[in-house]
Amino acid sequence: MIEIAVQSHHRREMIEITSQINAALDAAGIEDGVCHIFVPHTTAAAVINENADPDVVHDLLNAWAKLLPPIHFAHAEGNSDAHFLSSVLGPSLLVPIVRGRLHLGTWQGVFFVELDGPRSRRVWLTPVAARPEI
Ligand code: ZN
Repeated sequence: MIEIAVQSHHRREMIEITSQINAALDAAGIEDGVCHIFVPHTTAAAVINENADPDVVHDLLNAWAKLLPPIHFAHAEGNSDAHFLSSVLGPSLLVPIVRGRLHLGTWQGVFFVELDGPRSRRVWLTPVAARPEI
């Protein structure tokens, strides 16, 4: 398992971590396989989405905020909105590795989603090599 660090600067934001993951995969030396990407936090998430137009990130953050139900949250910490969105978006991804890098679509990037920042966060990567004959 490889741990990478992510520092958020806002309450809610999307931070692209594709290049950080590729750098970690270089160090791991895996040519082909899959990479499990896991966010070990209850007020954050991991998603894949467009990394070309920053308006998409802006639109997603706005749209996710609209998903929040108009209910009273009991959790005393006051951040149940973040817990809710973390559960909806999910903590993990599984991405193919080809020639030592994440094999993503042309416009795709891997994003850490901060939902209760700013905080110092971690992401755990578990790269798994494919069998040589695959
Ligand atoms: Zn909480």
